[in-house]
Amino acid sequence: MEKRLKPMDAEQLREYGHKMVDFIADYYKTIENFPVLSQVEPGYLRNLLPDSAPNQPDSFQHVLDDIQAKILPGVTHWQSPNYFAYYPSNSSVAGFLGEMLSAGLNIVGFSWITSPAATELEMIVLDWLAKMLKLPEDFLSAGQGGGVIQGTASEAVLVVLLAARDKALRRVGKGALEKLVVYASDQTHSALQKACQIAGIHPENCRLLKANSSTNYALSPELLSETISQDLAIGLIPFFLCATVGTTSSTAVDPLLALGKFAKSNEMWFHVDAAYAGSACICPEFRHYIDGVEEADSFNMNAHKWFLTNFDCSALWVKDRSALVQALSTNPEFLKNKASQANMVVDYKDWQIPLGRRFRSLKLWMVLRLYGLENLQCYIRSHIKLAKHFEDLVAQDTRFEVVTPRIFSLVCFRLLPPSNGEYHGNKLNHELLDAVNSTGNVFISHTVLSGKYILRFAVGAPLTEEKHVNAAWKVLQDKATALLGESLR
Ligand code: PLP
Repeated sequence: MEKRLKPMDAEQLREYGHKMVDFIADYYKTIENFPVLSQVEPGYLRNLLPDSAPNQPDSFQHVLDDIQAKILPGVTHWQSPNYFAYYPSNSSVAGFLGEMLSAGLNIVGFSWITSPAATELEMIVLDWLAKMLKLPEDFLSAGQGGGVIQGTASEAVLVVLLAARDKALRRVGKGALEKLVVYASDQTHSALQKACQIAGIHPENCRLLKANSSTNYALSPELLSETISQDLAIGLIPFFLCATVGTTSSTAVDPLLALGKFAKSNEMWFHVDAAYAGSACICPEFRHYIDGVEEADSFNMNAHKWFLTNFDCSALWVKDRSALVQALSTNPEFLKNKASQANMVVDYKDWQIPLGRRFRSLKLWMVLRLYGLENLQCYIRSHIKLAKHFEDLVAQDTRFEVVTPRIFSLVCFRLLPPSNGEYHGNKLNHELLDAVNSTGNVFISHTVLSGKYILRFAVGAPLTEEKHVNAAWKVLQDKATALLGESLR
């Protein structure tokens, strides 16, 4: 007799689900046994897996065995306490459970009617988070604005750029696309450049203004003002300014208040990207870094970075949701329904690029409810304290220098070259990075600031404790000793 496939059998889900949760819990218990940066060579998996999919079902245990033996070696362990690279991408029990529930319900919430709870919970949870960040009331959903969860900060900046572009073109005329100019510092994430490419902004009209150590790599309002004046004088149309709070290279903080005033007086859309550092602003002592957000048209922070919410969950708020909707809405017959037609509801499909969307607010809601504001504040403070501890360790070793003042939980530092030549310094630090990461005991990353190759140590993985920071520093010191010894030989 033919065996019928039952792809969603509740009892099988229970059995396999429990096994999978056990597997993941064991993974977290033993996570430090893995090299934090995967040590496999490119193409390693081709040799381990068959060329085509199986004709007949495999057993679940066999799949789990393959995950252990073949997949985990090719995983870089972002949740390892020894992970200090890029910026963190937090996981937590609450975030995980929310993600699990979202996968379980598996709704597609593009319009309110497709799952009213998905839209309404998203609006409520983003209002909660906006209040925790003390964002201006204009960003709350009760007025003309509101919040939306995007997949990433890159999508967030793209949708607001599109909204701003269309708003500007409505004002100055459709034919003026080639005159529209975007402004940001050269420390702004490359997501802005990609958004400009997609939005049809002419590449030569994307002004990435130089920021240097004199402003600690923040955008200078004077330079912005000069550049805008020059552009206006030749008939160009400034329409979009992107400021960053916590730049990707070095956590620079652009002066929002001063920049926002320029944006306003030139009728520009002002976007604030606080993808990483936004989380810290739930603490009263760090909230001042987003002072001036009152001037912004849109504000973005990634809850999936440093806010215990599993990837992906990028929170975006706008003051004028109609600008987003005007740029992004479509109204095909097959999606028409009473609630949307009567304009009684938010349809998030009109606030984003794709149509389909996941029930992502569940995980953020779980994080906020199961942890609460005070625990979240302590969590952020503990990482900032650990970063300060690392900064002190670096400062005590005269062979190293801290390159930029630490603001949040990132320390930018480097090993000083013995002969002081920049070429040697860059090569030396590159070699130090490779040596440290190839131990598998630590994973850090790098950047370049003013031509100098810099090492970045970003604290923010949920399991990191002081002993991990100390151990990482010991690896760095030992590898530095070995490298300096070699360079003297
Ligand atoms: N903006 C900043 C300041 C970032 O640091 C990053 C990533 O680290 C991004 C944007 C891009 O984030 P996403 O991967 O969510 O697009």
